[in-house]
Amino acid sequence: MSVLATKSSGTLFVISGPAGAGKGTLVGRLVKCLPSVWVSTSATTRAPRGTEQNGVEYFFYTTEQFEDMIAHDQFLEWAHVHNNYYGTPVLPIREHLDSGDDVILEIDVQGALQVRDRFPEAHLIFIAPPDMETLESRLRGRGTDSEDSIQTRLANAVGEMEVSKDYDRIIVNDDLDRATEELVNVVQSFVSSERD
Ligand code: 5GP
Repeated sequence: MSVLATKSSGTLFVISGPAGAGKGTLVGRLVKCLPSVWVSTSATTRAPRGTEQNGVEYFFYTTEQFEDMIAHDQFLEWAHVHNNYYGTPVLPIREHLDSGDDVILEIDVQGALQVRDRFPEAHLIFIAPPDMETLESRLRGRGTDSEDSIQTRLANAVGEMEVSKDYDRIIVNDDLDRATEELVNVVQSFVSSERD
């Protein structure tokens, strides 16, 4: 039985992809094109980076706080990613779907599969790099990751690409404008097919 209302008025989307595939940039562009879309803020136990603020990029929690929320079933999904907890607080998702917003979760592949189990109406979209060489050069180009972290993210990307075949759609981010247009079209067509 779904943990969300069985018949919501908004549509739930999950967007995943390897670090460096450009999913954050694409989601930012999607929101500008489609104002009915609301992006969930995840919770994490990782430390804030740079100018990140609590409640903006993430809700930053201690491990104790996060585990307490798990114990009280307050997450739609949660997972260990790169040695930290990440999770989607369920209450705001329910509220936004009920009020008719289309909701986007930008989460990893483990979380995406949990969402599909618990809420089969969700649409899973995977953002893929054109190839592994491009992914590696994008990760290096960001200049934010150590060599160790780049190697971990590249190794994780191989497993993530494997899981992508279980997604409803794969969008290859070969060109930002083209991929944005495809993402907007995919979201709009899923939304309108549910409202017909
Ligand atoms: P970062 O720490 O670089 O912001 O995110 C690391 C990874 O955690 C990314 O793959 C991101 O999609 C994933 N992530 C962010 N929020 C969540 C969440 O709520 N649940 C899950 N399962 N993964 C998340």
